[in-house]
Amino acid sequence: MGGYDGFMAADYHLHTHLCGHAEGEPRAYVERALELGLQEMGFSDHLPMITRWQPGYSMRRDELEGYVATVQSLAREYSSSIKILLGIEADYFVGFEPEIASLLAAYPFDYVIGSVHFLTDGLPFDHPDHRRRYAELGADHVFVEVYELIARAAESGLFTVIGHFDLPKKFGDRPRDEERVAEAVDRALRAISRAGMAIELNTSGWRKPVGEAYPALDILARAAEHCIPLVFGSDAHRPGDVGASFDRAQALAREVGYTDLLRLSTGRLEPLGS
Ligand code: ZN
Ligand code: FE
Ligand code: FE
Ligand code: ZN
Repeated sequence: MGGYDGFMAADYHLHTHLCGHAEGEPRAYVERALELGLQEMGFSDHLPMITRWQPGYSMRRDELEGYVATVQSLAREYSSSIKILLGIEADYFVGFEPEIASLLAAYPFDYVIGSVHFLTDGLPFDHPDHRRRYAELGADHVFVEVYELIARAAESGLFTVIGHFDLPKKFGDRPRDEERVAEAVDRALRAISRAGMAIELNTSGWRKPVGEAYPALDILARAAEHCIPLVFGSDAHRPGDVGASFDRAQALAREVGYTDLLRLSTGRLEPLGS
């Protein structure tokens, strides 16, 4: 079998032009995955926000059906060369669990990446236009709230994988009260572990100002201690980023003690390789 540097390489975090801030036809992402020799891939474009839809953040609700049909048709067309899964990246909002659940239940998603991109007050803390409000709140507040939301997302049972765990570091912000934040990290990791969920090593952080994968090495090491299954995701918003830095991701995962990756199509762990 082909493979990418000899390990089960699957990219489960891929966007499409439908979200309004990504480029390239879905087919171009598949072609790139084939070039790289990936064994499996999954589209996970942004689910329309439950609270209020905004242009440029996600597809509209009336576009979901077409997204699902497009991914399913590509999966059939390419079934002899690569396994293509139908995923989705869904925002978690406290108090909207039933609405999220019913939207997710309307389609046969193979997996759901649960992501926190908004604080409870609605602040899109990873958006470059909202840096001032982020600064007013302070990094400690943002990090701790995001980890609390991740813990609740895990407890909600709505998601398969937690996406970009330490996203608040995107622009290089660092918490000051490291102890308090580390405790919040551990509570979130314990919740993920109890829920039997996976965590992703998201390589897009290497392409952002922080210059670091999500999650950071120390958090990934604790995830490994908790025996939380790991998947890789590029968070590609253009075809050229499919599988980006998976060799680095492999090295990082091995460094903290991971020996396997989770294959979402079978639910089984497969060797991470050397
Ligand atoms: Zn996006
Ligand atoms: Fe995201
Ligand atoms: Fe994403
Ligand atoms: Zn994402």
